[in-house]
Amino acid sequence: MEIERHEYDVIVIGAGGAGLRAAIEARQQGKRTAIVCKSLFGKAHTVMAEGGAAAAMGNVNSDDNWMVHFRDTMRGGKFLNNWRMAELHAKEAPDRVWELEAWGALFDRTKDGKISQRNFGGHEYPRLAHVGDRTGLELIRTLQQRVVALQQEDYETHGDYEAYIKVFQECTITRLLKDGDRISGGFGYWRESGNFVLFDAPAVVLATGGIGKSYVVTSNSWEYTGDGHALALLAGANLINMEFIQFHPTGMVWPPSVRGILVTESVRGDGGVLRNSEGERFMFNYVPDVFKDKYATSEEEGDRWYTDQANNRRPPELLPRDEVARAINAEVKAGRGSPQGGVYLDVSTRLPAEEIKRRLPSMHHQFKELADVDITAEPMQVGPTCHYIMGGIEVDADSGAASVPGLFAAGEVSGGMHGSNRLGGNSLSDLLVFGRRAGAGAAAYLDGLPARPKVDQVQVDAARAEAEAPLQRAGENPYEVHQELQRTMNELVGIIRKAEEVSEALEVVEKLKERVQLVGAAGTRIYNPGWHLALDLRNMVLVSECVARAALLRQESRGGHTRDDFPGMRPEWRQKLLACSTEDGTSITIEEKAQPAMRDDLISLFDRDELSKYLTDEEMAEFDRIAK
Ligand code: FAD
Repeated sequence: MEIERHEYDVIVIGAGGAGLRAAIEARQQGKRTAIVCKSLFGKAHTVMAEGGAAAAMGNVNSDDNWMVHFRDTMRGGKFLNNWRMAELHAKEAPDRVWELEAWGALFDRTKDGKISQRNFGGHEYPRLAHVGDRTGLELIRTLQQRVVALQQEDYETHGDYEAYIKVFQECTITRLLKDGDRISGGFGYWRESGNFVLFDAPAVVLATGGIGKSYVVTSNSWEYTGDGHALALLAGANLINMEFIQFHPTGMVWPPSVRGILVTESVRGDGGVLRNSEGERFMFNYVPDVFKDKYATSEEEGDRWYTDQANNRRPPELLPRDEVARAINAEVKAGRGSPQGGVYLDVSTRLPAEEIKRRLPSMHHQFKELADVDITAEPMQVGPTCHYIMGGIEVDADSGAASVPGLFAAGEVSGGMHGSNRLGGNSLSDLLVFGRRAGAGAAAYLDGLPARPKVDQVQVDAARAEAEAPLQRAGENPYEVHQELQRTMNELVGIIRKAEEVSEALEVVEKLKERVQLVGAAGTRIYNPGWHLALDLRNMVLVSECVARAALLRQESRGGHTRDDFPGMRPEWRQKLLACSTEDGTSITIEEKAQPAMRDDLISLFDRDELSKYLTDEEMAEFDRIAK
């Protein structure tokens, strides 16, 4: 059968916040843009985001500004962040939120009519612009509305709504194509018919989100199989920071069918507290030295902070997520967990029932429907869940360009911005800031391109043969291979890691790689989830190998990477980035790269005492030289 073919200037793979914002930018800069997404248009992780988008607008506390946000982000990421990305993000997030409002987003308001901002872990001031606990839904609705508005403009000018921006939904890209070193397009299939489709385009923006489906307990949904990470690797790009995975401290633990589903951090931001089976607010026992002066030491002080932030310190329930997840893990291991293996998260004794329903309507609904728990009357049981990957495609901070000419990335699939741990709310703002930049980067690349790269038929035939292979053999069951991978990653490369266990995981992954080559899918190409999974497995195994290899190499504990055998941060490791790549498409190599030194004006934003907790002696000597 002939392969359906489309020609565009830019294809954006992924229709979450990053993809939509990139596509809008590329179209606004006059480029013919295709948005391709694996799931239905509107069904992306972004839509599930609850808490809000972090932006230092200073609406609730006028002391907030980009420098405070920058500092919080670097602290949250334990200074491993790409500081240029953290700078751009902190400076540009407010404009991106106001832009959303101009495009029709209806944020919650303060009493004096400004966009309301809420507290979240690791943010010094109330900073998350939000819409109840359904912020992602409003963000996606607004960006989709903007796409429609642009299509209406195009109809006026060209007589065709889809002349300059078109959505291809339920279409999965399985390979990127290249002409020499440069990107020339992408190959994929329609989920419904199984027919193949080719996008001929000199620029590709990857915005495919995360990798959570490599783990058993995850807040991520079925699409998050690390496709963009793997597509980039296979096209010759590097992945960095892959060892850093965020286990959100509060996922549902009961009933088993909903284990891992997210319980938003807003519950804690709005006053919810964590208790163990002995009723103790245990987080007070887990404030690490680097944060000691920033968090309350008594329940009374922590409680006062909700109404008087100027004179009190935050409660330790609002420590960055990695700290809270490890603390919950330790309490459960010490035998002080809840009956179903979590801890208690209680908002029922902290806020009036009506207030809980007003501020946390989705959480109230979620627990009532899925667990028959009324959160206005009883505590929830919660535990860590694989939520977000800080690692991803190595990109240029300003343009989103990967090392492969014509390839750009934004959002969760890109790496660097969040260092070793992302602060809640910093993803939605990241999508907007770097989605726009990647769209602009792709447009600028096209303007400078001497000649349009050509699609190579040999690569198309190979991509087709690769995609058809599972349908042509009665091989291994893809579901069994997937379950083994998920179990292995959960148990051996989870929250707390040890060299022996990670090595064991790598041995399993090595065998799974071979088995993936043999998976078969019964049935035809027409809407065949077994076949889709068989194709996704290549990506999950590649990405899992990157996570495990990097986790084994990094001999320290930092953010979303905790080594039982190497507790604590080691300053010399902060200077290193682990970059994964593949030459042959199956084996992963890792190279240590030096982390660029922070610009003088940015490093000067921190106190000497704080920096000394993260930096090496040589870096401190350099800091002292600048400070003179
Ligand atoms: P996504 O929104 O994940 O979209 C990825 C897109 O790529 C989808 O359209 C998918 O179909 C498509 N895709 C994937 N693979 C392919 C392929 N092979 N071919 C074609 N298309 C493909 N962050 C915050 O800042 N604040 C919050 O309050 C918050 N709450 C969250 C709550 C939940 C339950 C979850 C899971 C995450 C939350 N996060 C939050 C994190 C944040 O939502 C995500 O990191 C972010 O939305 C990722 O956006 P993205 O645009 O990078 O990708």
